[in-house]
Amino acid sequence: MKKLRLILGDQLNSQHTWFNQADADVLYVMMEIKQETDYVVHHAQKVIAIFAAMRAFSDRLKSDGHQVIYLTISDSNNGHDFEQNLNQIITQHQIEHFAYQAPDEYRVDGLLKIFASKLTIPHAMVSTEHFLTERDEASRFFGNGNWLMERFYRHMRIKHQVLLDDKKKPVGGQWNYDKENRQYWNHQPSAPVDNRPTHDHSDIWNEINSLNITTMGQPNESAFRWPINREESLQILDDFIDHKLVYFGAYQDAMHTEELRLFHSLISFSLNTKMLSPAEVIAKAEQAYIEKDYPLAAVEGFIRQILGWREFVRGFYWTNMPAMQTVNYFNHQQPLPSWFWNGETKMNCMKHCIRQSLDHAYAHHIQRLMVIGNFALLMGFKPSEVHAWYLGIYIDAFEWVEMPNTIGMSQYADGGLLATKPYVSSAAYINKMSNYCGDCTYSHKARIGENACPFNSLYWDFFQRHQTQLAKNPRLGIVYMQLQKMRESDKKDISQQAALIKNNAENL
Ligand SMILES: Cc1cc2nc3c(=O)[nH]c(=O)nc-3n(C[C@H](O)[C@H](O)[C@H](O)COP(=O)(O)OP(=O)(O)OC[C@H]3O[C@@H](n4cnc5c(N)ncnc54)[C@H](O)[C@@H]3O)c2cc1C
Ligand code: SF4
Repeated sequence: MKKLRLILGDQLNSQHTWFNQADADVLYVMMEIKQETDYVVHHAQKVIAIFAAMRAFSDRLKSDGHQVIYLTISDSNNGHDFEQNLNQIITQHQIEHFAYQAPDEYRVDGLLKIFASKLTIPHAMVSTEHFLTERDEASRFFGNGNWLMERFYRHMRIKHQVLLDDKKKPVGGQWNYDKENRQYWNHQPSAPVDNRPTHDHSDIWNEINSLNITTMGQPNESAFRWPINREESLQILDDFIDHKLVYFGAYQDAMHTEELRLFHSLISFSLNTKMLSPAEVIAKAEQAYIEKDYPLAAVEGFIRQILGWREFVRGFYWTNMPAMQTVNYFNHQQPLPSWFWNGETKMNCMKHCIRQSLDHAYAHHIQRLMVIGNFALLMGFKPSEVHAWYLGIYIDAFEWVEMPNTIGMSQYADGGLLATKPYVSSAAYINKMSNYCGDCTYSHKARIGENACPFNSLYWDFFQRHQTQLAKNPRLGIVYMQLQKMRESDKKDISQQAALIKNNAENL
């Protein structure tokens, strides 16, 4: 029976059982299509990286003896649409069975379900064999209760036997060492060298340009630093385990103008395209704890991101789609200022985080959450616009992981389904965790006045404006107690200052 198997651009899992042995009756299809490049404006490096990794994957399959049809973005036979391309191949090759791996994105999942339902040949959707949980596992775990990551994480630690002692208790006696992981970085320990391989992808970039595909950010096509295959992904992972993991925990939240990545792993692109599996990453980190005697806080903190957060947000996505696309708990409507696309702002923290995102398609978690996301929420930017920006700009941005992080964790637009309180702060936090404020036009200490840091008045204005929705949250008790003690005249000054800032968003 002649079989057709579709491989999507984020399904580059060479360890999948599909590829155990070559089969003359199986034809694989991979396609670069405008349907996928155009649904949001992506970072240039993201488009290049996905195409380069897809092409490398196809070459590898072919050299292993598999048959692959590969439609490049500039192929004259490319209809730039899943349905059109697949129908053409099915007819042309007299295909008798169609299969695809479960898409991680709701949009593509729906699209392929509809396509398959219209087929007159048998068809099947199989697992990507990547995640540690099923799509609905977290939802079954929580039932009607509140979604608390920490509860889910403990369940995952036990289920997957990670960092447990002989009595099935957490090693070291605690499940979570986050409190030990909040240090400021000031050149010590010295920042790790960027050992990622470099590629020249000028050919792909020229192809993208010739088709007028709109992108954002720097392509960096001739000195490209993102991995395009499993070998390079493993090399980056090993480099992280050997040189960075030991400091990951302590400096996880630190930010610095001269060091963009500090001790972060840079493996999210490899994980999200499935060139690496979460199980192998966790196993390597746990092994380093045992064999290299790394601090438990570092290893636990890293493992929690993958075993806990990554699987948790995936479950959250499948439980809350499609409603999550349109939620707007605070009814925020302000558009993003144009400097989100060029980084030209006097706010030093925003300038650095946005410019680095545009230059490298990367910002680490705290830059995404406590600088850019924090500012977006305090300003009242429209959540759907914030989401589209995040979905486009980051190398690792795939909707199933980006949307819960942006809409839920960062913008609280779901009204607190994912996060127990809004992640907002005044300049004090940014000043504590970075060196951004030192060189800033604005004063991180001032709340009112032309040179006052915008975060300061926006922070208090946010809590004043959303008193009805937030004042009963027990985690915000202290904030509202402080607000209550504030003089009415101060509150008025804050509202006026915040209004000025919002009206002047383009020129901050
Ligand atoms: C507003 C916002 C948007 C985000 N969008 C994305 C996104 O589109 N894609 C994405 O992979 N991550 C996203 N994250 C989570 C996190 O910021 C990135 O996973 C991380 O910065 C990737 O860099 P790294 O590989 O160096 O990660 P490290 O800091 O080294 O962490 C290791 C791994 O843990 C996982 N991880 C860490 N935090 C999270 C999290 N909150 N949710 C899910 N997985 C996590 C990632 O796979 C990451 O590679 C977002 C966070 C925020 C606040
Ligand atoms: S003073 Fe305010 S705007 Fe400037 S870097 Fe600090 S937090 Fe950012």
